[in-house]
Amino acid sequence: MDFRLTTEHEMVQKMVRDFARKEVAPTIKEADRKQEMTAHVLPRMGELGILGICIPVRYGGQGMDYISLGLASEELEVIDTTLRVVMSVHNGLASMTLFQWGTEEQKEKYLAPLARGEKIGCGAFSEPGAGSDFANILMTGKRDGDEYILNGEKMWISLATKADFAVVTVRTKSDVAKPSEGLTAYIVELDRPGVSRGDIHGKLGVRAGSTGWISFQDVRVPLENRIGEEGEGFKVTMTAFDHGRYTVAAGATGLIRASLEASVAYAKERSSFGKPIARHQLIQEKIARMARDYEIARLLYLRAGWMKNEGVRNTFETSIAKHFATDASFHAASEAIQIHGAYGFSDEYDVERFMRNARGAMIYEGSSEIQSLIQADYALGYRKDKAVRCELPAYDSQAWQS
Ligand SMILES: Cc1cc2nc3c(=O)[nH]c(=O)nc-3n(C[C@H](O)[C@H](O)[C@H](O)COP(=O)(O)OP(=O)(O)OC[C@H]3O[C@@H](n4cnc5c(N)ncnc54)[C@H](O)[C@@H]3O)c2cc1C
Repeated sequence: MDFRLTTEHEMVQKMVRDFARKEVAPTIKEADRKQEMTAHVLPRMGELGILGICIPVRYGGQGMDYISLGLASEELEVIDTTLRVVMSVHNGLASMTLFQWGTEEQKEKYLAPLARGEKIGCGAFSEPGAGSDFANILMTGKRDGDEYILNGEKMWISLATKADFAVVTVRTKSDVAKPSEGLTAYIVELDRPGVSRGDIHGKLGVRAGSTGWISFQDVRVPLENRIGEEGEGFKVTMTAFDHGRYTVAAGATGLIRASLEASVAYAKERSSFGKPIARHQLIQEKIARMARDYEIARLLYLRAGWMKNEGVRNTFETSIAKHFATDASFHAASEAIQIHGAYGFSDEYDVERFMRNARGAMIYEGSSEIQSLIQADYALGYRKDKAVRCELPAYDSQAWQS
C-alpha cells in the first residue's frame, strides 16, 4: 500500500487549488449573499479540464484517475461547497454514469461534450414525494414506438437550471414484484419540448449554486437515450450514487480542512485572559478533533478512490467515507464558529457559510440515516455486492491517456 501521491496528483491539487483560491474565493461571499452562481465558474472549470478530470482522453476528458477526482473535490470544497457540488453532479452522477453504462454512441454524443466542459450534466432522481425511498418514485416513462414519453416532477436537483443534459430515472413498469424492478434511466436533453425548470430559493446552504426542480410534461425521448436496459434504472442510479458520494466524501474532507485552517489562524490571533485563545486547552481540544477528523476522512476517501482505480466495488467503503466526512465536517464547522466567538456568527468570516454548507451533505446523496442502514446491512451480512452488467472501468493510465 502506497500512501504517497504521484506527481500528477500533486499537479491536479495545485491547479484546482489555484483556480479556487484566485478565481472563486474573492467573489464567493457575494455570490452566497445574492444566492447566484457566478457566471464564470462553470466555463472556467470546463476550460481547466476539471469537468472531465477522470474521463479518458478519447471521450474528451483528461485521462486522470479517480483519486484525482477526489483530490480536486477536496480542493474545491475548501473554498466553497457549491464548487464541489458541480463535481458530484456533473462528474459523479452524469458523466461517470454514462461512462459506466452508456453505449459507444451515447459516450460520443453526450459524455464527450460533458467531459470537454462544453455541456453541463446533472442527475435527476429525487421527487417531491420520494428521496430516501427512491424505489417508489412516481415519474413515468411510457414506450411509444421508438420513443418514450416522460411525465413527472424531479425536485431538489443540483444544477437544475444550469445543466444541458440530465440522467433521469423514471418508472416504466408498475406491475413488478419489487418497486425497484420497474425503473429505467435515460439521458435527456433539457431543451426538449415539455421540459420546464426553476431554482429553489431560501436554502440554508449551497446558496452560490443552483438547486431546483425539473418538470417533464409529455417529453419524448428516443429509444437510443435509454441508459442500460429497461428495468435496470435502479441499478444505474445506485451506482451513480457510488460515484457522487465519493466526491461528497472528498469534498467534506476539504470542508473539515477549511474549518481547521480558519480556526488555527483565528485562535492564534485572538487573545483572552492574557494569552492567545490557542493556548487554552479547551480550544486545543476542538482543534485536535478537527485535525484528527481531517486525517481519518482523507484516508477513507482515498481508500475508496484507490478501490475505484483497481476496479473493485466500493459501496460500503464509499458509504463510510461519505457518512464520516459529512458528519465530521458539520461538527468541525460548528466548532469553528465557536472558536470565532461572536465574529463566527456573522458572514464577516467564512465559518458560518461552512456550517450552512456542511448541513446539506448530511441529507443529499443518501442521508446519514440511510448510510447507517447500508453499513448495517453489510455488517450484518444482509447485503453483499452483486455484479452489475456494466461495472465502472478500472483505471488504466495508458489506455485513458491515449
Ligand atoms: C442541497 C441539496 C441538493 C440535492 N441535489 C440532488 C440532486 O442533484 N439530485 C437528486 O436526485 N436529488 C438531490 N437532492 C435530494 C436528496 O437526495 C434527498 O433530499 C435525500 O435523498 C433525502 O430525501 P428526502 O429529502 O425526500 O427526505 P426523506 O426521504 O423524506 O427523509 C426524511 C428523514 O427521514 C429519514 N429516513 C427516511 N427513511 C428512513 C429509514 N428507512 N430509516 C431511518 N430514517 C429514515 C431521512 O434520513 C431523513 O432524515 C438534493 C437535496 C439537497 C438538500
